[in-house]
Amino acid sequence: MAAAYKIHEHTFDMVVVGAGGAGLRATFGLAQKGLKTACITKVFPTRSHTVAAQGGVAAALANMGEDDWRYHFFDTVKGSDWLGDQDAIEYMCKEAIPAIIELEHYGVPFSRTDDGKIYQRPFGGMTTRYGEGPPAQRTCAAADRTGHAILHTLYQQSLAHDAQFFIEYFALDLIMDANGACRGVLALDMAEGTLHLFKAQGTVLATGGYGRAYFSATSAHTCTGDGGGMALRAGLSLQDMEFVQFHPTGIYGAGCLITEGVRGEGGILRNSNGERFMERYAPSVKDLAPRDMVSRAMTMEIRDGRGVGELKDHILLDLTHLGPEVIHEKLPGIAESARIFANVDVEKQPIPVIPTVHYNMGGIPTNYHGEVVQLRNGNPDEVVPGLYAIGEAACVSVHGANRLGSNSLLDLVVFGRAVANRAAETVKVDGKQARLAGDACDSALARLDKLRNANGGTPTAVIRDKMQRTMQLDAAVFRTGETLADGVRKMREIHASFGDVKVADRSLIWNSDLIETYELSNLLDQALVTIVSAENRTESRGAHAREDFPDRDDAHWQKHTLCSVTESGETAIDYRPVHMYTLSDDVSVVPPKKRVY
Ligand SMILES: Cc1cc2nc3c(=O)[nH]c(=O)nc-3n(C[C@H](O)[C@H](O)[C@H](O)COP(=O)(O)OP(=O)(O)OC[C@H]3O[C@@H](n4cnc5c(N)ncnc54)[C@H](O)[C@@H]3O)c2cc1C
Repeated sequence: MAAAYKIHEHTFDMVVVGAGGAGLRATFGLAQKGLKTACITKVFPTRSHTVAAQGGVAAALANMGEDDWRYHFFDTVKGSDWLGDQDAIEYMCKEAIPAIIELEHYGVPFSRTDDGKIYQRPFGGMTTRYGEGPPAQRTCAAADRTGHAILHTLYQQSLAHDAQFFIEYFALDLIMDANGACRGVLALDMAEGTLHLFKAQGTVLATGGYGRAYFSATSAHTCTGDGGGMALRAGLSLQDMEFVQFHPTGIYGAGCLITEGVRGEGGILRNSNGERFMERYAPSVKDLAPRDMVSRAMTMEIRDGRGVGELKDHILLDLTHLGPEVIHEKLPGIAESARIFANVDVEKQPIPVIPTVHYNMGGIPTNYHGEVVQLRNGNPDEVVPGLYAIGEAACVSVHGANRLGSNSLLDLVVFGRAVANRAAETVKVDGKQARLAGDACDSALARLDKLRNANGGTPTAVIRDKMQRTMQLDAAVFRTGETLADGVRKMREIHASFGDVKVADRSLIWNSDLIETYELSNLLDQALVTIVSAENRTESRGAHAREDFPDRDDAHWQKHTLCSVTESGETAIDYRPVHMYTLSDDVSVVPPKKRVY
């Protein structure tokens, strides 16, 4: 098999797959430590989905009022509905402050207060005094284009350091050895059609989320969870995949995001009576309740007949009262998106919005160093040698059952940096690597050969469409045992139908058909794991809202789900305990209580 395909070999200390915010922060951090580092990316770095992030990045800088990182810690634990690991949350919220100041020094063009400090806006679920005080102004913003500003700055920093980029290279599979250690990754140079084996002491998966498992998502078409797919194929389990975040304000019909920053600046959600209904659901924080709650409230309004439009199937986001100055200065991108995608002038008309798939809380389980962990021989925290995961691809778990807005950009920079720090301690500069077995790439190559010559009867796009519609319908904002069981049955069939996939293009050069088929297979595995995990969890927590089990059940379910899948679609479920301890005495564990705002 190996003889049929010529492989170009590269040896690095570290290889990073992905050049979004997480991948770039890790890449230049590793290079800065003197490690010989490669970054592989399927799209040009500044086209990664991070570029689309709008609202901002959280850090308790207290530039615009009272704040403390311990309040941020409390809010994140509560936001996670007590599924987040409190050691990792402590690490993220404490490190947020130096990590953001560092970004400022690297050159991120943040918006400014009158006295020249980083501008910060309120965001959902971010409060002061352990939930007892007023909303915190914690989310650092560069107008409504924060991700764009951060991603470009990180790419500039990467170029300033000595990292080597392999752009428009598609990572196919992890290369694992007989001891279960990751030894690198096999990738396809999409333009040249050549195969490349990147051997490394450490491989970092920073491949982003898998929002495209759903029909309507705010994420880019490139968000196909390739890292999670590769991890599953390597026999690893993914964690907490049942927790999928619906953002309350995707533009109706188009799915494009309208940032929560709009509500942070004073925007209001209204039903068909013109009522500010969030006052009924979250009396203290109203429109700035966390996303899971707002999405559920909107869905309930629509169900009760108070939706707007001909079909009464969406809600209005009103910012007409904010005035042209706030809109031009703080929300220019939103005004543009609303004009292009909803034909709305936000100064005069409300925007039609609907909850839209936005973020995956679940992913590849890691500790707070970014090292991938698995449950092995009774140890829930056993590190997989040589493998790291960061960003949306990972589940650290700092977001638990529900991520707070502006905590993801933070997660990218904090844990991108953490991986670099960890590798500096554990990886040797120019260290000698054990020889790889001659057949190390065989299964990855066999898979490539099989997919490239796939000659079934069903085009990739047909299977993808079925998967996306099933997930949209059956793993939605509200779930029941019945819809989930039905969804699992359908997803198993759709997963199996991949055996009949048809790839029309047989070449290796710019074969988008083949690439989309790889992406589909990554999505299929994760869609199946998501819906199976959702059916299995018989409680409601964070973004996972079961109508048949409306309450959180800590006695049985305060634990992380682990789910793996075989090539033929057999799933297996296990659990890891939630870390109910902190790293230091600076902060105390937040014990579970009812989550109300
Ligand atoms: C519209 C939108 C707005 C958002 N706004 C905010 C916000 O304001 N604040 C906030 O905190 N969060 C926000 N989020 C969430 C946040 O932006 C994302 O979670 C985050 O940017 C993900 O970053 P990442 O580095 O993990 O992955 P991405 O930015 O998605 O990058 C993934 C990288 O992996 C590469 N890759 C993937 N697969 C392969 C492969 N097979 N081979 C090679 N390379 C591969 C891609 O080329 C890309 O470089 C928003 C998300 C969306 C969709």
